[in-house]
Amino acid sequence: MATIKRNLWVLFTFLFLIHVIVFCVITYGRWHGLITEHQVRQRHLVEQLYNSIDTRLNQQEMLLNILGKKIAALSVNELALGKAELDEILNANVNLLVGLGFATPDGQLKITTSNIDSSILTHLLEKTNNGNSFLYSLTQPNLVLGKTIIDPKTQNPILTLFKSIRDNNHNLQGVMIAGLIENGAHQIFSPITLMGNYHQIMIIRGRDLRPQFVSSADNSANYDNNIKLPKNEYGNFIEAITLTSKKPLIEAMNNNTDYVYSRKTLDGRDEVLGVARYNQKYELWVRSEIQFKHIFDEIKFTFIKYLIFSLAIQVILYYLFRVIIESESKQREVLVYQVTHDFLTGLPNLRYVLNEGEEWFLDKNQIFYLIFMNVENLKSINNNFGHKVGDSILIELSNRLQQFIDPSELVIRSNGDEFLLLVRQSNRDILLFVRDMISYASKEYHVKNNIIKVKLSAGVSKYPTYGESLDDLLRTADIAMYKAQKNKKTYCFFEPKMQKAYFEQLLIEEYLQDAIKNNEVSLVYQPQVNVNGSFHGVEALVRWNNPVLGHVRPDIFIKIAENTGFIAELGKFIIETALRDMNQVKQTCGTDFYLSINLSVKQLLQDNFFSELLQQINASNVAPESLTLEITENLFIEDINFVLPLLKEIRQERINIAMDDFGTGYSSLNVLHQLPINELKIDKSFVDNILHDPISHNMIKSIISIGKTCDMVVVAEGIEEEDQFAELVEIGCDRFQGYLFSKPITKEALINFIQKM
Ligand code: C2E
Ligand code: CA
Ligand code: CA
Repeated sequence: MATIKRNLWVLFTFLFLIHVIVFCVITYGRWHGLITEHQVRQRHLVEQLYNSIDTRLNQQEMLLNILGKKIAALSVNELALGKAELDEILNANVNLLVGLGFATPDGQLKITTSNIDSSILTHLLEKTNNGNSFLYSLTQPNLVLGKTIIDPKTQNPILTLFKSIRDNNHNLQGVMIAGLIENGAHQIFSPITLMGNYHQIMIIRGRDLRPQFVSSADNSANYDNNIKLPKNEYGNFIEAITLTSKKPLIEAMNNNTDYVYSRKTLDGRDEVLGVARYNQKYELWVRSEIQFKHIFDEIKFTFIKYLIFSLAIQVILYYLFRVIIESESKQREVLVYQVTHDFLTGLPNLRYVLNEGEEWFLDKNQIFYLIFMNVENLKSINNNFGHKVGDSILIELSNRLQQFIDPSELVIRSNGDEFLLLVRQSNRDILLFVRDMISYASKEYHVKNNIIKVKLSAGVSKYPTYGESLDDLLRTADIAMYKAQKNKKTYCFFEPKMQKAYFEQLLIEEYLQDAIKNNEVSLVYQPQVNVNGSFHGVEALVRWNNPVLGHVRPDIFIKIAENTGFIAELGKFIIETALRDMNQVKQTCGTDFYLSINLSVKQLLQDNFFSELLQQINASNVAPESLTLEITENLFIEDINFVLPLLKEIRQERINIAMDDFGTGYSSLNVLHQLPINELKIDKSFVDNILHDPISHNMIKSIISIGKTCDMVVVAEGIEEEDQFAELVEIGCDRFQGYLFSKPITKEALINFIQKM
């Protein structure tokens, strides 16, 4: 029970864990996929931006280089011409350029487009705040990006470009300067549409960490590169780059490849996912970053959906398992109850004690008694009154027993007619208890207008003295009950000496099985005589001589054979042998005589008894009318409903039926009248006392008169004295058997006996 429940919960936990794992894998997969997706998009954007900046600046550099070289070559007289040419270029590119100029290495503006007021702006190092870039450009072969200026008139962001001009011997001649509208004809820094307000693009000048361009959510870019990127922020960014590139920064900057990284922002609150690439020539970091929070927000909804779905499945699964386990437990409980209880009386059965009765056998100081009780006449009640009545009696009996015991004690129905009681009584009280209980339980039962007497017998054993386990106690109580039955008492307490008799019985049981096979069983025949002393016939009596046990009395082993079922084989053997022997004796002596065979009721109850009997008779030379079957009175009554029709059939075949041991049983005249019997055998105990005991004498007289009334032959057995014989003849007995005439004798001795008559 518990294991199934446990296994189901283990299964549930297993499914739950699998479910959790699947949930995590799917969620992680989604998360990972989303990050990859964002990375790919960012890399693409960065590459696009990088290329566009590179191309545009390259174009401008080439243009400025050509113009610069031309201007450097102009003599002082030709400066006006040069100015006109610059103006022309400016006019042709009003959407791109806001001014051009050429400065000598000392910062003196040599020539500018006319829109630049050269009276104001004559010396770069003095008047502009781009002096640093100018100076720096003097040392660089490539185009240098200066500070971005906002045009006060148009509010356009203007990029300042510085390109050093050198002659063929690499001698510095001056610097060509241009003002470029960032968002003019060509958008240089801002050609890319942002992915959303969680996305930021930044272009950072590598040499001084000034952001040249910072995208903003409302698409109004920030060009205020007066502010340097805070050192920490930059450091944080560079650290992320070196971490992902696994190279020193210089190497990473010269690698011309993009780096995917994640880092914490300076305030440490947000985590960002970034892609950056460094343009070595123009000394610019192109960087795209998005907030993780956004990716998380994006996945949050899916995650919650998954979670709700997953939880719903878990809850359903949980309830499903609970329902299954509960119904399973209930079913099991019912089953366990059915298996451990008797269906009819509702009492626990033996299995119950085996399963639940442990506590009775734990403490050897806690003495208790096991009472093994048997309803001796249940079978005859069932046969005479029907099984329904038998069942009612069992139920009533179980109620009476329960009333008699304490709730902490136990009544068990262990078998059809067997009850067990486990009671805690003191040594002093147990005898009284058993006596009272049995007398209470065997009080008359009133069922359907019948008043029925129940015959109980009980064996009592004591724990732990006569058994420390249920098995041992049952065995000793059983032995005690056997003793009670044998001594015709209602109860008996186990004593160790009983065990000997019990083991003897076990031995008999064992050896009996092979007795016929081993030729240990034989028949003897006791003659019967008529009133005038002439030979009438014989009664066949069985003998068993075992090498170990010696001669075993027939009344002992017949009972055991009945209990073990061996009686079928034995009975058949007896009939067969008796018929065969008689044939032989008849043939040898040339006289006809009668043969009586003892039958056990158990034999009669066998399925094919009657047909087999007829076969055996037919196979022999014995006429049915010279055959008598003797059945003991007590056994007769027990199964009367079944036996009666069978006896009638037997009588129809002209076979005689004798009631053996008559007078010892309880058959009423009424029953006797119904029975198809044609012979009564007076029990030996009456014959023994006929001369001295008037009651026995009267008994025999009554039996003889009953026999006469019912047209039966009356036979007396156990006659040992002449006087007994004379008295029996006197009061009208028909036939006689006893040691006076002959003891039971072998076939050979019988031949002798007959021939001497
Ligand atoms: P039973 O059928 O009443 O048999 C008569 C018993 O009385 C026999 O004992 C017999 O030897 C004994 N007996 C006869 N005359 C005298 C006498 O004058 N004095 C004394 N003291 N005893 C006498 P046995 O052979 O020991 O049989 C005992 C019982 O065993 C039988 O009682 C019968 O119930 C049963 N039995 C014996 N043979 C068979 C058998 O072949 N089949 C069956 N089913 N039962 C048998
Ligand atoms: Ca007999
Ligand atoms: Ca008898």
